Amino acid sequence: MRAPHITGAWMDHAHREGPRALLLVEPPHPDGGTLQSHLEAFGYRVLVARSVVEARAAVAQCPAVVVLDWELPDGFGPDLLTEWMEHAEMRWTPVVMVTGSGDPQRVRTALERGAVDFIRRPADPIELEARLRSALRLGRLQTQMRALAQRDGLTGLWNRHVVLERIERCAKGKEINPARCLSVAMFDIDHFKMINDNYGHDVGDVVLQQFAEQLFRDFGPYGSVARFGGEEFLVFLPGHTAEIAQRRVLTFREYVAERCFGDGKKALHVTFSAGVAACEVGHGANMARLLKRVDLALYAAKHEGRDRIVVADVASN
Ligand code: GH3
Ligand code: MG
Ligand code: MG
Repeated sequence: MRAPHITGAWMDHAHREGPRALLLVEPPHPDGGTLQSHLEAFGYRVLVARSVVEARAAVAQCPAVVVLDWELPDGFGPDLLTEWMEHAEMRWTPVVMVTGSGDPQRVRTALERGAVDFIRRPADPIELEARLRSALRLGRLQTQMRALAQRDGLTGLWNRHVVLERIERCAKGKEINPARCLSVAMFDIDHFKMINDNYGHDVGDVVLQQFAEQLFRDFGPYGSVARFGGEEFLVFLPGHTAEIAQRRVLTFREYVAERCFGDGKKALHVTFSAGVAACEVGHGANMARLLKRVDLALYAAKHEGRDRIVVADVASN
């Protein structure tokens, strides 16, 4: 399989802004026992949170590693750890727990709750740096493994597993700021087999990559774009009514109609058929039914002659 060439789709937003910072969550230490100066002396960019509340806000910046103190002015580090293990992104972020206590029970609790390592105060700088490097290495490996497990190898887009999980979470209102509605759009390139048959599989691959790149450019800022399989793509648009989603798909269609695809030797024109379906977010939301509706809408678009967009009837969730 070829290496994906879509850098935009391949990268997470968190990795576009250079190296990620470390997050140090520790209360003020009037006696100067803070770890901040150590971490900065090692050359890391350090975000500092002094409380549970500040730590919850700071994780939005996607730290590479968290160094978490046991006791905080408004709560306990281990409770924060438990919370993060349930969090879609934070559960992948290595957390190193810190405490001044020599109680081995604390080591056990921290590791059982999901910390990858444990440091006792006063921290020896050499040991501290070695443990941080090890946690960073683990974080990097996890990021690489997640990319392989979550991305489509040809286009760099999310795979179907990822987007279905996101739709499910959103439909059930499980997000921190739940949307009131959501839309999905399913795309299928028309007569794609003819491109393979006439120009070869390699050119077919290039067309898929170019189509995916444009999908990501147009829809990426508003939601998640996935390769659903073969020449089918699924776009998930949280907070979008069917009408707004349809408008975005129409704009995308105009662009596709104007551009040329292929490897440059022969200018190819491509059309696609698409289905759009929306639902309200909440208890009754049913992802299987939503996908069935969008699939039927796509089928209708094909059946009615291709190169068109069909919006599924408004239905109860
Ligand atoms: P329709 O308008 O009905 O969608 O026709 P179609 O030709 O697009 O659909 P069909 O299902 O008959 O063929 C899809 C083709 O897509 C067949 C398959 O070989 C090709 N395909 C699937 N995955 C890939 C891929 O990764 N690369 C290339 N080059 N072709 C692929
Ligand atoms: Mg198809
Ligand atoms: Mg097709």
